[in-house]
Amino acid sequence: AHPSRATGRPSFPSHSSETRFDRLPEYEILKIKRAVSDISGIATPFYRLHEGRAGATTSIAGRTIVNFSSYDYLGLNGHEGVANAAKTAIQDFGTSVSGSRLSGGERQIHRDLDAALAKLHGTEDAVAFVSGHATNVSVIGALLGPEDLIIGDAVVHNSIMEGARLSGAKRILCPHGDLEALERALRLNRARHRRALVVVEGLYGMDGDAPNLAALIKLKRRYDAWLMVDEAHSIGVLGATGRGIAEEQGVDPTDVDIWMGTLSKSLAAMGGYIAGCRPLIDILRDTTPGFVFSVGLSPPVAAAAHAAIDIMQQETWRLAKLRENGRTFLRSAKARGLDTGLSIGAAVVPIMIGNSPHAVILSERLLERGFNIVPAFFPGVAENQARLRFFLTSQHTAQQIDDVLDAVVEELSKVRNGPPLVSLVTK
Ligand code: PMP
Repeated sequence: AHPSRATGRPSFPSHSSETRFDRLPEYEILKIKRAVSDISGIATPFYRLHEGRAGATTSIAGRTIVNFSSYDYLGLNGHEGVANAAKTAIQDFGTSVSGSRLSGGERQIHRDLDAALAKLHGTEDAVAFVSGHATNVSVIGALLGPEDLIIGDAVVHNSIMEGARLSGAKRILCPHGDLEALERALRLNRARHRRALVVVEGLYGMDGDAPNLAALIKLKRRYDAWLMVDEAHSIGVLGATGRGIAEEQGVDPTDVDIWMGTLSKSLAAMGGYIAGCRPLIDILRDTTPGFVFSVGLSPPVAAAAHAAIDIMQQETWRLAKLRENGRTFLRSAKARGLDTGLSIGAAVVPIMIGNSPHAVILSERLLERGFNIVPAFFPGVAENQARLRFFLTSQHTAQQIDDVLDAVVEELSKVRNGPPLVSLVTK
């Protein structure tokens, strides 16, 4: 450190190679990715600019594109009833509640939304947070501590992993869908820990499959663990009235300790929530940092989510159509010899490609042909698990599904039979 001329106190040269952002390893990796994209001439499939509202169709670079990358599963984003609710809320309350609910930010629309979410899940109470990601991080981070045990399915969402890390609890990931491994993990570890949490997704956003809820409930009872189900992709997707995996599988919702969901997918808004018994929700309202120390939901956002819940339950044809589209997609993909992995054909269907460069090139070729599908590839998934991720909505037509699958088959055979590619994967 050099003494500063002005103050005589020690000062540091502006930035060393350790603290310069453009010298961080993360930045080097970013530069390599950009170079690969420049050399290969293949643009990144991420951050594509959509020029308007993106549902079953979208506009990219001035072209109308059939879109399979929207979580607007029920086509409620922009629905007149949802939009009007949001506009009215802005008129009544403005665009922000300008404070945490605890201190000046509480509005009736928050209370109404919490009540609607509790009713939707069939639980005593619910509480909404400003982000789905923050809900998992903050709630898991606050409810569990270093004396505790968290057992999750290997492919649960990043927000669950981050919450588990924050909690300091012992973390065990079980192979995807492996109930025997889960049972073993509980049997071998439960006794040494104060509390145990088993966490799964209601419909997996990566694979499009669902867990066996009744079996999980048996296990969590046997080992006195909490069961948490993240319904980000299953609320408004599974169940005849969109109430998620409990409705789909005929399970009593009060047998699950912690229901988590997002407002950002079927419910056409943004935010997350927890639904459960009253003491749980009371504790969360009182102690979860992401609730206590964060602003209340923006009025138009809360009103939109609430309206979406109501409309979803009035217009159940949307759920039926989504289901039909999922089944059609799965059946038609399989009939064409495509590998749909574990998907049960409910809104989320991967097409397994098994090679990262192929998945990226396919995404680009399909875009050229008028279809937007985002790939998942190494290191996001294992190299042999590289895939195109299709998200279906109630607004897709059977023709659009047929057309995209035809295009996938043609382009896949071209890349597989074309000249070999330099692998983008270095290890
Ligand atoms: N949980 C799961 C399973 C998710 O897929 C996501 C986001 N895709 C989240 C939580 C986070 O939700 P949000 O995007 O609403 O913050």
